[in-house]
Amino acid sequence: MMGLAFGTLSSPLDLDAAGKRAGQYGLTHSGNRHAFSAIRAPLGVIRGEDGPTALICGGNHGDEYEGQIIARRLFERLEPEDLHGRLILAPALNMPAIEAVSRTSPLDGGNLNRSFPGEAHAGPTREIAGFVATQLMPLADIAIDLHSGGTGTAYLDAAYLCLSGDAARDAQTRAMATTMGLPFAMVVPPGDTPGDFDGAAHAAGCAMLSCELGGEGKVSRRALEAGWQGVLRVLVDAGILHEAAATRLGAGPAPQTRFLDLGAASAAVTSDHQALAEPLVALGEAVSAGQPIARLRDLHRLDVSAIDLTAHVAGIVAIQRAGAIVAPGDHLCVICPELSGTALDALLEQTARGAP
Ligand SMILES: [Zn+2]
Repeated sequence: MMGLAFGTLSSPLDLDAAGKRAGQYGLTHSGNRHAFSAIRAPLGVIRGEDGPTALICGGNHGDEYEGQIIARRLFERLEPEDLHGRLILAPALNMPAIEAVSRTSPLDGGNLNRSFPGEAHAGPTREIAGFVATQLMPLADIAIDLHSGGTGTAYLDAAYLCLSGDAARDAQTRAMATTMGLPFAMVVPPGDTPGDFDGAAHAAGCAMLSCELGGEGKVSRRALEAGWQGVLRVLVDAGILHEAAATRLGAGPAPQTRFLDLGAASAAVTSDHQALAEPLVALGEAVSAGQPIARLRDLHRLDVSAIDLTAHVAGIVAIQRAGAIVAPGDHLCVICPELSGTALDALLEQTARGAP
């Protein structure tokens, strides 16, 4: 292989030879700050015996950290002899956003997870997406994209079951989400997030798992360890990581995962006011329809009655706003009904038939 290249991005890293190598990919962007610079991000490969390839990514959004740490830990703690296959590790996908402690890129405002499959010479963010989609995804049998809530939100530790409508693919994603063993998995309808990593990975023929690990722009010890063990289990199950290595690195059996419906049956609780918000429920709490979820107080006056916002559906508080000052249109939380195994079976069948 002569290295990797897409648009202005390139990397001389050899992903094919056996062994363990750290490299970088570089991006050029002729703005004021970077006109005479390469914007570099780390890329690593560990290749053991012949076997399948996993692509593991963090830092798709720049203010989400657990995934960045997990991908870097894998490089630090695994050696070629631990693998029946290959790991490609891209822990800092959107480096301009990471350096800026920002969800999106300060260079072009781009949200990398809305920029797939990407395009050459169409701005740094779409170019990074194109590099991943054309240079890395086609090498992978399985792709894992690790997210957290970012500065703005707290998420349950949850895998995504992004439905594709392809019954075999969706059964595979469900199995991976179960193997990952995070406390929850959120089921997302097909085409819910155009331009995301998941859709591009499916288009490249990869098995695909993404997840949320904590949030609020900080590193959660709980979410980090749950994600770490989950990734190790998924790699063992994919036949890439030897079980003894996963055990050495702390992976235990998969805890039970509860599935939540993040589709049409879920409901956001949204402010119509500029206000100071007091949460009346906690992340992960089970709530009933009509239950008060947040109390909004007028920012400027004491003699205006507070307004309680109530849940439209019964379910689990799956996503919660981090900040307390809200404006009209700001969501306070998202409530997702829980899906039993039977309900999930039915939803997958319905999706495969193309029913709404
Ligand atoms: Zn994210």
